[in-house]
Amino acid sequence: MLATGGTIAGSSSNPASSAKYQAATVPVTALLDAVPALGAVARIEAEQLAQVDSKDMSFALWSRLVERVAFWSAQPDVSGIVITHGTDTLEETAMLLHLACVGTVPVVLTAAMRPSTSLSADGPLNLLDAVRVAADAGATAKGVLLVINQEIHAGRDVMKAHTSAVNAFVSPVSGPIGFVQDNLVRFVRTPSRLPAKAWPVPGAWPQVEIVASYAEPGRIVVDALAQAGVSGLVVAAAGNGSVHQSLVEALTDAAGAGVAVVRSSRTGAGHVAIPAPPRPAAGVFVSAGDLNPYKARVLLALALAAEPGLAKDPAALQALFTEN
Ligand code: ASP
Repeated sequence: MLATGGTIAGSSSNPASSAKYQAATVPVTALLDAVPALGAVARIEAEQLAQVDSKDMSFALWSRLVERVAFWSAQPDVSGIVITHGTDTLEETAMLLHLACVGTVPVVLTAAMRPSTSLSADGPLNLLDAVRVAADAGATAKGVLLVINQEIHAGRDVMKAHTSAVNAFVSPVSGPIGFVQDNLVRFVRTPSRLPAKAWPVPGAWPQVEIVASYAEPGRIVVDALAQAGVSGLVVAAAGNGSVHQSLVEALTDAAGAGVAVVRSSRTGAGHVAIPAPPRPAAGVFVSAGDLNPYKARVLLALALAAEPGLAKDPAALQALFTEN
């Protein structure tokens, strides 16, 4: 078990409040001690990798996480890996691990919406269910998973879609891939995509930022980012990838200057059409498919780190987004 912090490790002096608490304060040993039933499921070795509120997630912690997953996956007596994480940026870490940790040993993220001291904490059951899934033969070669609220989600597809509810996580296009009910771990389908190869995690990440299309956006943000030398931009576009005319012009200029531009949707569900409405130069604005802007940013950054020339090759970049 690799612990990184989050609300699952949060505590509060007011158990009745869902908002007044401190994330990432309880050590993983205490989280495990609170769930004696774990002893009947697995022998657990725990590493306190970090103790952060995941809103402050860093590239350095991502690298360390990938490195520790690789280390533990290679141990012959390890059947599965569970990672405790904050919910705020979990979908980004899940995307990174989906792309960077390709293997057969199950890697299962889990989290909680309520702190460990809450009147009705969801962490202990999520932790137990995550270990049940990680120890289950059915989880083998299913890619990185999230287990939360008795559901199993594919790491690539899952996103946080509620500020406070315990059922905050959804896979908007495909739904959960399985369920946990007490001892029963049930997979109902395979993940929509598994990467063919593990993407290397860069030592130095290319700068990829997110901009949004909305009424009268102006071009000031895109121009400033292009001038600052970003390698890539993900546009949280409207609807089916529609981009405001003023942004189309700014993004076309940025793309001409060598910035990779990818369109995602701000709607929260569905695929972005290829080619883009409202018809920028063919292929210039790559579609993120069904990846939301935060997940698309992770793939774009890994792709540009591996192959900087992709910024000038929208067709190849589009193929990567279609495959991954
Ligand atoms: N801010 C917390 C975090 O992401 C929220 C949570 O875990 O639910 O670390």
